[in-house]
Amino acid sequence: MAAVEKLSFDVLVVGGGIAGIETAINLGNNGLNVLLVEKDLTLGGKMIMLSKVFPTLDCGACITTPKISEVARHPNVTIFTNTVIKSIKKQDMHYFKSLLVRNPRYVIESACTGCQLCEMACPVVVPDQYQYEMVGRKAAYIPFSIACPRVAAIDIEHCTLCGACERVCPPKCIDFTQEPIEFQVIIKAVIIATGFNLFDPAQIKRFQYGQAKNIITAMQMERLLAPTRPYNHVLRPGDGKIPDKIAYVLCVGSRDRTVNNPICSQICCMYSIKQAQLLMGALPMADVTIYYINIRSYGKGFEEFYEQAKGMGVNFIKGKVGTISEKENGSLILRYEDICTGKLKEAEHDLVVLSAGVLANQDATGFFSDDRWEKDEFHFARQNDLFFNPALSSIEGVFLAGTTYGPMDIPDTILSAGAASMEAIRYIKQMALKI
Ligand SMILES: Cc1cc2nc3c(=O)[nH]c(=O)nc-3n(C[C@H](O)[C@H](O)[C@H](O)COP(=O)(O)OP(=O)(O)OC[C@H]3O[C@@H](n4cnc5c(N)ncnc54)[C@H](O)[C@@H]3O)c2cc1C
Ligand code: SF4
Ligand code: SF4
Repeated sequence: MAAVEKLSFDVLVVGGGIAGIETAINLGNNGLNVLLVEKDLTLGGKMIMLSKVFPTLDCGACITTPKISEVARHPNVTIFTNTVIKSIKKQDMHYFKSLLVRNPRYVIESACTGCQLCEMACPVVVPDQYQYEMVGRKAAYIPFSIACPRVAAIDIEHCTLCGACERVCPPKCIDFTQEPIEFQVIIKAVIIATGFNLFDPAQIKRFQYGQAKNIITAMQMERLLAPTRPYNHVLRPGDGKIPDKIAYVLCVGSRDRTVNNPICSQICCMYSIKQAQLLMGALPMADVTIYYINIRSYGKGFEEFYEQAKGMGVNFIKGKVGTISEKENGSLILRYEDICTGKLKEAEHDLVVLSAGVLANQDATGFFSDDRWEKDEFHFARQNDLFFNPALSSIEGVFLAGTTYGPMDIPDTILSAGAASMEAIRYIKQMALKI
């Protein structure tokens, strides 16, 4: 590890999803110096991976990329990607000290032109995590076409050190000698915007995710529908067939005590209805059926969006799916309880999409060793004042933005980022008066 470098900023924002990006822009626009830390190679979180967004059906990438380029070019915002937080400690009432480690990309970021010649030359293919493993990527790679920064990285775990990428790189910016760099950062306030995790449907064995080839998650369907999609069409991953009968199973890992997640994920009904509408456009001849327990179309414009899907011909069955089994031809048999009649029924589909629920990302627990970082009973960050000050965490000077404190859609995430930035500004001003 290289020697520790020392830096100071007004605010540390942890997490470069839409919540962290919006918070950093707000703080920067108000004259504060911000360090935005993202553990991944690129900014954008889950939102940059979406196709279109409910309830307006705006293109996800088209509304995320202007925000990303605004934050990336903001004079008051410094961005560290591929960086992990080791600790955040309160020093006195005015300052926090954070230790971070910036991991090497093995590419000199400032020199890489994003030409992708390294990618073309690299002989190693591994599953592409940015396409949710539906296709492969190289060991020398740019995460995806609209990644920010649009700079290559070497996946050192899979790299064979063959040197093919080095030989073709025009600016000679591949550097296998790079080491992690440790930073000690002094800040006045912290925003936690580390987002959420998705439930892994493989945990529910009777749904056969990971076993049957034509069962995918809704996030995988987002990628199949996105402009930067892996197959340039909606295809079954098992055999490349264009699906005719698509089923959605809602509440997979949400509202389910058997997997220890009793909460409603709030977004799954709506993103499934959105995808069903997009599929009616992409595959006009296909039947799309949504198996649900209850449809929770609670937000502005959501009920109308639901009605619109019904009008477009999406089938809604109030049914609890018990098992999914695979036929020899790759099609799937769903056994479900028809909740309206109480009868057990079966239906055949050729592609099944599991609408996996939202889980807390508990990374922040590890950041704070001395201070009391508290979680709620579902492991999300605990809000100190739920009704009147939802951005306050259990530690004074540490604020919460986005899905770090509970499931929410993009508009609510933006609102929460606004609240967190304003609270941080108020706090820093108040502390300055106490010096
Ligand atoms: C399939 C699907 C479809 C959706 N469709 C819609 C839609 O149509 N409309 C809508 O309004 N909403 C939709 N959503 C919800 C939307 O994705 C969320 O509201 C939004 O992504 C929340 O943003 P966030 O920044 O809070 O979290 P995230 O998007 O999870 O971002 C968190 C960021 O923090 C980073 N991070 C995590 N831990 C650390 C750490 N320890 N250190 C540093 N960085 C860290 C992550 O890498 C990530 O970049 C959908 C969600 C899913 C799953
Ligand atoms: S050195 Fe590694 S990253 Fe570069 S081409 Fe060879 S395997 Fe790929
Ligand atoms: S590392 Fe070199 S070859 Fe690869 S994208 Fe960057 S400039 Fe191009």
